[in-house]
Amino acid sequence: MDEAQALLLAWYAEHARPLPWRGTRDPYRILVSEVMLQQTQAARVADRYLRFLAVFPDAAALAEADDERLHRAWKGLGYPSRAERLRAACRAVLAAGGWPTSVEGLQALPGVGPYTARALAAFAFAQPVAVLDTNAARVLCRRDGLDPRLPRAQLQERAERALYRADPIAWNNAVMELGALVCTAQAARCALCPWRLHCRSRGDDRRLAITRSPLRAASPRHEYGAPRAPRGAGRLVWALVHDGGRYLAWSAADGWVLPGIGVRRASDERPALAALLAALGGEVLAARFLHGWYEPAAGPPLRHSCYRVRLFAPPAGSALRWWRPAELLALPWPPALLPLAERLRRYHRREARLPPPAAALS
Ligand code: SF4
Repeated sequence: MDEAQALLLAWYAEHARPLPWRGTRDPYRILVSEVMLQQTQAARVADRYLRFLAVFPDAAALAEADDERLHRAWKGLGYPSRAERLRAACRAVLAAGGWPTSVEGLQALPGVGPYTARALAAFAFAQPVAVLDTNAARVLCRRDGLDPRLPRAQLQERAERALYRADPIAWNNAVMELGALVCTAQAARCALCPWRLHCRSRGDDRRLAITRSPLRAASPRHEYGAPRAPRGAGRLVWALVHDGGRYLAWSAADGWVLPGIGVRRASDERPALAALLAALGGEVLAARFLHGWYEPAAGPPLRHSCYRVRLFAPPAGSALRWWRPAELLALPWPPALLPLAERLRRYHRREARLPPPAAALS
């Protein structure tokens, strides 16, 4: 063990939160926690996790669950299809007579992707693999001065090199915990950090800013950022997500914008919006078409559609922010969205004397 590893593990031993899934090696319980954590913050998952396990204490119980019981137990935890895939994984495990222990074997289970397979391999079977979530990637990029736009495979390879192989459970938990508590997207509390003397980003505001969300920065733009119509798409669909009199916008390279995505056909609009919002941690309760318009383009005009969307629970994250209507309309809007801004201004004219929508400088 080198000095940096020792410092981090000592810090973790003292500061780790007592999250309920950290005390188990049961692959079923770890899989349940990982699927829940894909859409919801750890503090909110803890209680729901224990309630879910009270209903479905093991893989056999979940494998036998009918849709109604499953959806009831999952309510408020994001897409029900995730719970169904969790059940499908349990059925596959029972059919195979037990859990696979390798990353490859785990990834062959229904609904288990590369990240979850690694988490299961490390936390349930103590395999020496690095688990790279957004928190771990941020910490790694900052400590080692890595470019946060590196492809995920390269960040994964750097995480494998940093891994303390003798105790992958403690190590992976410690790196993620440092990213959740000290080296966060909102602030790097370097004075409290066990790696403050080993870090290449400490005191470098520019590096701290560009490393807030490394894995998201490496994602395709349509997943997190200002949407652009993919080649031949011809349509952009926007979500006006509302909750408690406020609207959701996300941080893109050129400022705060509504969540949006490029699609090819009108019939793709609702499913694409639902998938986009699910990636942000939101499950669609209702989506109503609000406004459509055409943007002149070099080829055929680009069609824009906006849906007024309500979610089961408002998502949260460093790249998301809720705005009152007047605040939203005071932002610089991309010229292509001014017809929507004007529609929104008319919609809210009674509750505030809103100025004409502001256009972004371009
Ligand atoms: S010293 Fe600061 S930037 Fe570096 S890992 Fe620690 S909290 Fe993050």
